[in-house]
Amino acid sequence: MPTYSDTDQSALTATVTVLGLGPMGRALADAFLDAGLRTTVWNRTPGKDQELLARGATGAASAAEAVAASGLTVVCVVNYDAADGILRDAAVTDALKGRTVVNLTADTPDRARQAADWAAAHGIRYLDGAIMTPTTTIGTPHGVFLYSGPDDLYQEHRPVLDALDGTHTHLGEDVGRAAAHDIALLDIFWTSMAGYVHALALARAEGITARELAPFAQGIAAILPPLFEEWADDVDNGTYSGEGNPITSGVSSMSHIVHASEAHGIDASVMRAAEGLARRVVGLGHGEDGFTRVTELLGRR
Ligand code: NDP
Repeated sequence: MPTYSDTDQSALTATVTVLGLGPMGRALADAFLDAGLRTTVWNRTPGKDQELLARGATGAASAAEAVAASGLTVVCVVNYDAADGILRDAAVTDALKGRTVVNLTADTPDRARQAADWAAAHGIRYLDGAIMTPTTTIGTPHGVFLYSGPDDLYQEHRPVLDALDGTHTHLGEDVGRAAAHDIALLDIFWTSMAGYVHALALARAEGITARELAPFAQGIAAILPPLFEEWADDVDNGTYSGEGNPITSGVSSMSHIVHASEAHGIDASVMRAAEGLARRVVGLGHGEDGFTRVTELLGRR
């Protein structure tokens, strides 16, 4: 874990404010405290700061008071409606003038760009970000943080952000880019989760427990990382190669899952959607291509 004394910053940047003390906001504040930063915290609903206060955090009576305490404010709430609701309060906006907001709240790229425009119009320095790993990784080498927006702002606040440990990546000046990565990566996560819970329901209907399936499920998951590598060039180059695994074979496999599910009265709409896309690819004459051809299909206007 890095400590603030490892770095060489002014007293102003040695302080940080965290707005939002849900599980993630608390984890962030905890890591800042661990690293020795003077940390001010605020949450809409009082009382969630108790453990942090006991560890040395400063509790603020209002969000405006909280942001006035530090040069850098990290916001981490449920979505941008909530973040905007906090930041656009007149007293908060006023107190933020000339200071920096790093918004680690998850939402869409458009909301990130709108937030940056609003911040610029009010003299607030703004960096957007996304956290790609669970609360348990914060303050450990396993945390993954993405940022986008002005590079000089990122470099300036990097020493404080580094106090969270983990890997920090600045993705570029387009402020929506961190949220764009977040959305794409969460697309993988949630469709995978949808597949997994469906598989558990199907397995249970066949008398297989989740515990029995788990080791084999991990085997399936292990197939994916090398495929992501292989498919990167396949998709970027537009080859959509089906060598060794044409999409016609995939359609057959997916239809088995649909039939077996529905025979048990289990909703198969997620798999039906995937199978439908694959069948459309075949219908367009690309049956020899790989499943990645669906990317091209989805991108068609
Ligand atoms: P939540 O997404 O449930 O966010 C809870 C926080 O949002 C609380 O501080 C809550 O305040 C605040 N909030 C909700 N509505 C409002 C509102 N209208 N006005 C002001 N504050 C509001 O939990 P997390 O802390 O886990 O997540 C925070 C962000 O971090 C989210 O964007 C999430 O997607 C992201 N994230 C979380 C991860 C995780 O593992 N938890 C992993 C990666 C990213 P109150 O207590 O008053 O309700």
